[in-house]
Amino acid sequence: MITSSCHCGRVRITVPGPPEFRNDCRCTVCYKYGANWGYYIKKDVTITIQGKETSAADLSFSKTTPLDGLDLYIRNINAEPTTTGNAARGHLAFNRCAHCGCMTHWIGILPDQAVDPNAQVGVNTRLMDEADLQGVEQRVSTEPL
Ligand SMILES: [Zn+2]
Ligand SMILES: [Zn+2]
Repeated sequence: MITSSCHCGRVRITVPGPPEFRNDCRCTVCYKYGANWGYYIKKDVTITIQGKETSAADLSFSKTTPLDGLDLYIRNINAEPTTTGNAARGHLAFNRCAHCGCMTHWIGILPDQAVDPNAQVGVNTRLMDEADLQGVEQRVSTEPL
């Protein structure tokens, strides 16, 4: 079990273990966030905000309403989906702590992603302790998404 935390500690994300790899994504938005993603499935991700736990699998996502304590940036909200079920196509909600601003995770917002407990979630591994990430392969994704 690994628990990551934003800088102010209000938002914590718990996952079962280290990610398969870390991805320094160089797409248009992640590069600017400086995020380093680990990928999980929704049912394995628990979001705790000031003590209140929510499984990512229980988020039937509204595009404009984040959990209390988070702010959202929706990428490509006005673009037509080019496929279904592929978070990498860009219909993602980037979540950050509403207080300290740390990017915590992204979650897919297409209707099928919103209800699928096995849909992918990106968790920002920069909010994990380095000690929890020993030996995890670092990748750099240069593909523009
Ligand atoms: Zn915070
Ligand atoms: Zn990216």
